[in-house]
Amino acid sequence: MMDGQGSIVVTGGAGFIGSALVRRLVADGADVVNVDSLTYAGNLDSLGATADAPNHHFERVDITDAAAVKRVFEQYRPRAVLHLAAESHVDRSIDGPDAFVQTNVVGTLHLLQAARSHHATLDEAGRAAFRFVHVSTDEVFGSLEDDTARFHTGTPYDPRSPYSASKAGSDHLARAWHHTFRLPVIVTNCSNNYGPYQFPEKLIPLVILSALRGAELPVYGDGSNVRDWIYVDDHVDGLVTALERGSPGGTYLFGGDAERRNIDVVRGICSILDELRPRDEGPYADLIRFVRDRPGHDHRYAIDSSHAREALGWAPRHSFDAGLRATVGWYARPNAWVERVRSGAYRGERLGVSV
Ligand code: NAD
Repeated sequence: MMDGQGSIVVTGGAGFIGSALVRRLVADGADVVNVDSLTYAGNLDSLGATADAPNHHFERVDITDAAAVKRVFEQYRPRAVLHLAAESHVDRSIDGPDAFVQTNVVGTLHLLQAARSHHATLDEAGRAAFRFVHVSTDEVFGSLEDDTARFHTGTPYDPRSPYSASKAGSDHLARAWHHTFRLPVIVTNCSNNYGPYQFPEKLIPLVILSALRGAELPVYGDGSNVRDWIYVDDHVDGLVTALERGSPGGTYLFGGDAERRNIDVVRGICSILDELRPRDEGPYADLIRFVRDRPGHDHRYAIDSSHAREALGWAPRHSFDAGLRATVGWYARPNAWVERVRSGAYRGERLGVSV
């Protein structure tokens, strides 16, 4: 199926999840047009040899540029879009919300409009086969208490951070383009991803790399916030399955069935590192420091993915313990990707992140 006629546009294909998706699609033989503006979070190193594959075409395009987005559709005439480009870090959305509204809301609008114009030029079979998969987050549903039921496809939206509000806005636009313009849109909402090639501002890589250099391990509040962790390749499987088998207008929720308190994730990383790279000064957990909580920090996210399992025949294949061990091992090995991110060489400058 993936080597079928026509190309697939992936936006954000130089980011964490997008690069995993592009590696997978290109390996499967799909013709992939990777649309990414290469913000601080975009890194073509994450594609490895895939970057040079004949069926990978990189377009450095900012999705807030309507004319450039339109040009991509006219040039490649894709059969599908998987839209992942976004500003994705909650802390950055608190410090500077503007870019989140521009990229996540306005950028999505430009993609939907360009896809709609393109869709109208297709023949009947092309229009029926076309898909626009809009990739979103469980954070749009708000925050759960410890004892409340998990998010499901009927959960009302209740976004509470600038990041989740901008993603919620983009989800509403995507669904409106289905209902109003009959664009074959599919929306997916996924829980927290982890795995190799994640930029080290996010919890798991930040903790691994900080621990390896003996730095303090900051944990927000009392560490009791709960996230439902999914290995990135399981999310990628879900996206490919939604593209292949999802119904236009459908919503699919992906989760890892792995709810963990932040403090337990951090302790888990420390104990894996105690085995892999014992520290003379004592266990890595000695480096844990509780820091002032993030404003408005959502307490718990958790996904009930039974609908996606039944409708798509999808299921996550990695347990959290195995996925975390693989991820810690990847970051702990001598690693050119980590070195180039740490030095800023991947974008020709030095970054102020604490990695
Ligand atoms: P990321 O921050 O690692 O990557 C985002 C990519 O988008 C980068 O390559 C960046 O250069 C690109 N980008 C940003 N602004 C752009 C613009 N204006 N034009 C073109 N490209 C632009 O993000 P990620 O963690 O890989 O997340 C990808 C998508 O999945 C996002 O839409 C996010 O909301 C969603 N999602 C993420 C998670 C998670 O846990 N990381 C969970 C559920 C959903």
